[in-house]
Amino acid sequence: MHPILNRATALLLPHQCVSCRQFADTTGLCAACWSALAPITAPMCRQCGLPLAEILEDGICAACWATPPKISRIRSALRYDDASRSLILKLKHGDGLQLVPFICRLMAGRFAELTSDDPLVIPIPLHRWRYWRRRFNQSAELARYLCHQHGTGVYSPVLLRRQRATQSQGGLSRQARKRNLAGAFAISPDAARADHPVLLIDDVMTTGATLNAATRVLQRAGAPEVRALTIARVI
Ligand SMILES: [Zn+2]
Ligand SMILES: [Zn+2]
Repeated sequence: MHPILNRATALLLPHQCVSCRQFADTTGLCAACWSALAPITAPMCRQCGLPLAEILEDGICAACWATPPKISRIRSALRYDDASRSLILKLKHGDGLQLVPFICRLMAGRFAELTSDDPLVIPIPLHRWRYWRRRFNQSAELARYLCHQHGTGVYSPVLLRRQRATQSQGGLSRQARKRNLAGAFAISPDAARADHPVLLIDDVMTTGATLNAATRVLQRAGAPEVRALTIARVI
């Protein structure tokens, strides 16, 4: 169904769960789908956002101490599990666009925290073949909606581009993911420098290989600081 028709149908059926399509008491998710989601809450590492068992004095996890990450702050709304995977699959395929406002609500607090100084907000781009097939980039839809709703951050969808199609990262090892992404991203030729702090937006963080590959390119182009926000993250 065309996305516009989908939206119209959603308006006619306002109390339908955006995930399982069962009738719900309120807009958004039904009680069962809500309670299945696992939000990532404090305490967490101040840098990589990893949930911590206790509050640490300096707020930095052991891994970030040992190797300071390229990305200054990573935050995610949810743990990646069956419930968030199903939500993200719906966002990417089929009726994705009508889930955007709901998912952005889940990301709102973290987005506000990461955009108080109006960084460039850059969605992880899809390769054009994938974009043609899907007709939209879910990360770009989230980034645009978040900037618009909050009035912070500068939505910058064309600065970073994917110059090489990569095979799906699923099932690849950490090293293989890194190799798969070598040379995948580039800065648009008409934007030679990116001398602003940047907030990257993506759907899922697994090993961080995609976010790190994009960060390397942005830092080479002059970005003084790169942060990242995803819907969900593998813990
Ligand atoms: Zn539901
Ligand atoms: Zn950390």
